[in-house]
Amino acid sequence: MIIERKTIMGSNPKLRIGLEKIRDNASKVVELCKKTGIRAGGVTKGLCGNLKVAEAMVDGGCSFLADSRVKNIANLKREGMNVPCMLLRLPMPSETDAVVTWADVSLVSMGETILLLDEACKIKNKFHEVVVMVDVGDLREGIWPSDVEIETIASALKKCKRVHCLGVGTNVGCYGGVLPSRENMGRLVEVGRKLEDLLDYKLAVYSGGSSSSLALIEKREMPREINQLRIGEAILLGTDVTGGRKIPYLNQDTMFLEAEVIEVRRKPSVPVGEIGADAFGNVPFFEDRGVRLRAVLALGKQDVRLEGIKPLQKGIHILGASSDHMILDVEECDEKISPGSVLAFRVDYGAMLAVATSPYVEVVAEAE
Ligand SMILES: *Cc1c(COP(=O)(O)O)cnc(C)c1O
Repeated sequence: MIIERKTIMGSNPKLRIGLEKIRDNASKVVELCKKTGIRAGGVTKGLCGNLKVAEAMVDGGCSFLADSRVKNIANLKREGMNVPCMLLRLPMPSETDAVVTWADVSLVSMGETILLLDEACKIKNKFHEVVVMVDVGDLREGIWPSDVEIETIASALKKCKRVHCLGVGTNVGCYGGVLPSRENMGRLVEVGRKLEDLLDYKLAVYSGGSSSSLALIEKREMPREINQLRIGEAILLGTDVTGGRKIPYLNQDTMFLEAEVIEVRRKPSVPVGEIGADAFGNVPFFEDRGVRLRAVLALGKQDVRLEGIKPLQKGIHILGASSDHMILDVEECDEKISPGSVLAFRVDYGAMLAVATSPYVEVVAEAE
């Protein structure tokens, strides 16, 4: 499991992604959704809109792609991605020109922004679709489901000549940790129906959330009106952190973080000298376990969230990290670890996000 120096391609640290595993996850998610008349989009934001990963999602059957950043969508489109792309984060009023230029659909909740999008469409000679976000309790984005709010958003939409309302959507499990349920999905459907009455046309899309909503399909509790999901974590990592589970029918071994050892030495387990705060202002605590074999990795807090990674190798324990160094206890590791050894780690969503965002970590997406 320790990769020899000779076989290392490219630079370290790196995030090694197995595209076949991602494609397989996408196709399993798409198939599950299809059974209940739901179309699944692939969410690429966890890997900064990585093109190869986006392609694997489309290969797996995702009917659209979605990302929270216009930059990522612009990059996908420039690279020739020709499936519809949805902007997940509400547009900044200052970026509406870019939004209508690059995104086919955006999620919205403010009347002002809808009007700005319409104006941008006029300037750019474009048409644009929006999905009105409804807050069913997670307290992130979305209109509060009251008649006044629905009427306000409907009146903004009616003023538009080039912005069309594709549907309604909701997001749960992101800020408030609210789990999707038959009840909160039902509330979304209700708002959609009211909006249809006010707009005088049928809404094509009822977008019922993200990876955490898969559990509702599995339990057959998803209202049949829901016809779209936006799936990131489940495809990328095979997990659902909100529901606290590994999704049994998906691959969890989709990607690994690899980092290189730069020092191996036996040292005491308690620092020597008077203890102040560490580099991040915390006063550290050390358990005295005697003299231990330790390895220093060229990987730090600038690259990753250390709580979110787990060594693949048995007998390796993460002791801590500073900006650029990670300290491991390798006393109980069976394999010999020396400078140049490359160790692999599993990543959770937060670690994946950090690693993909660090300019110091190379992302290597391979077809296996
Ligand atoms: C991130 C995000 C998603 C995808 O969430 P996952 O948990 O990764 O599936 C869906 N919708 C919105 C609005 C998001 O911001």
